Amino acid sequence: MSNDQLRFDGKVVIVTGAGGGLGKCYALSFAERGAKVVVNDLGGSMSGGDGKSTKAADVVVEEIRAKNGIAVPNYDSVEDAEKIIQTAIDNFGRIDILVNNAGILRDRSFLKTTDLDWDLIHRIHLRASFLLTRAAWPHMQKNKFGRVIMTSSGAGIYGNFGQANYSAAKLGLLGLSNTLSIEGQKYNIKCNTIAPVAKSRLTETVMPEEILNVLKPEFVSPLVLYLCHENTNETGSLFEVGGGWVGKLRWQKSSGAVVRNGDLMTPEDVRDNWTKITSFDVPLYHTAIAESTNFCLNASENASSET
Ligand code: NAD
Repeated sequence: MSNDQLRFDGKVVIVTGAGGGLGKCYALSFAERGAKVVVNDLGGSMSGGDGKSTKAADVVVEEIRAKNGIAVPNYDSVEDAEKIIQTAIDNFGRIDILVNNAGILRDRSFLKTTDLDWDLIHRIHLRASFLLTRAAWPHMQKNKFGRVIMTSSGAGIYGNFGQANYSAAKLGLLGLSNTLSIEGQKYNIKCNTIAPVAKSRLTETVMPEEILNVLKPEFVSPLVLYLCHENTNETGSLFEVGGGWVGKLRWQKSSGAVVRNGDLMTPEDVRDNWTKITSFDVPLYHTAIAESTNFCLNASENASSET
């Protein structure tokens, strides 16, 4: 291991859903590098809403302690966010890093999606990440340091058959992260989103074994640790990561066209300019809402002055 190893000594990390899959790997990796870790896991079923066991978190805590690492278990559902944050404060006195990772699946084709399928997915993925981050925020603000990870999914970015509920919640997390990265800036709180692919109980029933063996959680955790390091300034970004590959995503926009004629704009104006509206020949990469809105206004003004 090189001398400039990224260390987390003195840092307190909460990893939700750390009893298995990706979360377990994050917890072990942070602890190996000196962090004090709250290993949260409800130990419930894959579809949420039932089951509870202390075993999931306990096994990971034991593994960390066996390697002389520091960790405590927490068995609350992520919906009980305050209790999880309190576990960090009671045991370690602070909270520096929050990895919102816990998750469930309730896949159904759209028409078969029940209110419960929709609500549970939103409660566990999106709402709980909101609750946890809000509860951690004042501690991070006070310390002028915070690193937050939101866990999205390719299903949110691209859509996926049978995952309307999950896709919506997962892309909601990106919107949440985008705004938190702006609000956190002056407190040195950085918030990034990952869309991982890895072998876990969520994927082992839907992907073949030979593919899963390439998708080790150990090929995702290094990105999470890098993003959470005190020397990393990246914020408000989205990454896809899996199988050792890491890449960053961004919005791309066509340069579009002003299609109104003076004060009038019709559906036919849109139709007649469709090629220009949808052409990515000269793409734009706006990164802030003001930049985006100003571009729109300037284009409109320029068109007015040209007529
Ligand atoms: P996993 O099922 O192995 O891990 C999720 C963990 O969260 C489990 O240990 C589970 O007990 C725990 N959990 C579930 N509900 C909880 C609750 N209410 N409170 C506390 N803990 C709870 O699955 P994973 O693949 O490691 O998933 C981790 C995250 O990555 C999830 O958010 C998932 O949606 C996301 N993700 C995974 C993949 C992938 O390829 N594995 C792809 C995209 C997104």
